[in-house]
Amino acid sequence: MVDIVVDKDTALIASLRIEHKSEQEKFSRVTGCDLKTGPIAEVVELPETPTADYYLSAVPVEVMAGFVGDNNNWSPLAEADEALKKLSELKQHTQWMNGVVFYLKGELSKLSGHSVFVDTPFALSSIYQGRYWDKPFALENYGKGNVTAILSTIISNWKDTADCDGDEVCPIPYGGRGRLYHQSALATIAHQGDFAAGKERLIAELWHDLKDSLSVDGEPLLDDENFEFAYIDPAIHQSKGEVNNSEPLLVNRTNGWRLRPTANTNIANFFLAGDYVQTHTDLATMEGACEAAKRAVNGIIASEGLADKPCEIYPLRRIRWFAPLRYIDSLFYRWFA
Ligand SMILES: Cc1cc2nc3c(=O)[nH]c(=O)nc-3n(C[C@H](O)[C@H](O)[C@H](O)COP(=O)(O)OP(=O)(O)OC[C@H]3O[C@@H](n4cnc5c(N)ncnc54)[C@H](O)[C@@H]3O)c2cc1C
Repeated sequence: MVDIVVDKDTALIASLRIEHKSEQEKFSRVTGCDLKTGPIAEVVELPETPTADYYLSAVPVEVMAGFVGDNNNWSPLAEADEALKKLSELKQHTQWMNGVVFYLKGELSKLSGHSVFVDTPFALSSIYQGRYWDKPFALENYGKGNVTAILSTIISNWKDTADCDGDEVCPIPYGGRGRLYHQSALATIAHQGDFAAGKERLIAELWHDLKDSLSVDGEPLLDDENFEFAYIDPAIHQSKGEVNNSEPLLVNRTNGWRLRPTANTNIANFFLAGDYVQTHTDLATMEGACEAAKRAVNGIIASEGLADKPCEIYPLRRIRWFAPLRYIDSLFYRWFA
């Protein structure tokens, strides 16, 4: 165990507060991160909390923001690194993007890879997984052994509705209300507290949209015979009578960059990974999360003064021909942002 010095008088013991798994939960959860400052000699490790030389946080932005606190109650983490305070604003830059996985049966070779359903109330998109697998996948292990295709759908409009009447062009198709139950996706699944029935209703809405939208030369690709079962992202859950989302997605909004922290923090042995960290990738994706993790590892290598080669960080490759457009865009940003 190496004690990491924050400054000459203080040490970080960064004890992680951990709530151990209950019978319902599969995993233990970190509920906070304490900085204990004081003369190193007096640092006492708290019993039953893991202590380590380095700490790397890879929880999502809204969880990390909870550890940092807000204007009403900043945690010692925020006091140790002012930049972390911006997370309380950054966590507002998230949006519900979760969806439903459909397990299908029958002849479905005409399904395409990525599809965007522009005329659906819940802003639906889908990925037919089979298009991207280069090795045979054991589909027979799913359903009753008769599954032939897996279609992942994403709802990008869970909440927004618009009231449009007559011939007015509605900014959201069908006013953001499903065509079967005439409610937003969130209201459909909440179903006045009956979550189990609400899930069935949401699946029915999506299945209706898929059947209606997927066709080749006017021939529908799906009918009810193709449906085996569907699975709603478990991050969409009910707690205290309300439907919540434990995994919203960070979306890039204007001025979001300045709110994002770097992988290195002011705290000598505390690093951040995760898709919200400043990276060349600059987008909440698996690439962004991987790059942030590499940056955090490089921070640890540098702090330890190790001779190991740092992880390679790749610059984002940009199409040269778009450079003039990017320049014009940057001018607009400077003038109007
Ligand atoms: C619908 C959807 C589609 C997407 N499609 C793509 C795509 O096609 N390509 C792509 O590159 N990216 C895609 N993304 C984005 C990508 O999934 C994320 O950007 C990426 O997974 C983020 O990685 P991460 O490690 O930062 O966070 P996560 O993968 O979210 O990992 C965070 C982990 O922290 C855990 N955790 C949370 N709270 C606690 C706690 N208190 N204690 C302990 N652990 C905790 C969580 O359980 C989770 O395992 C998609 C995202 C969504 C929502």
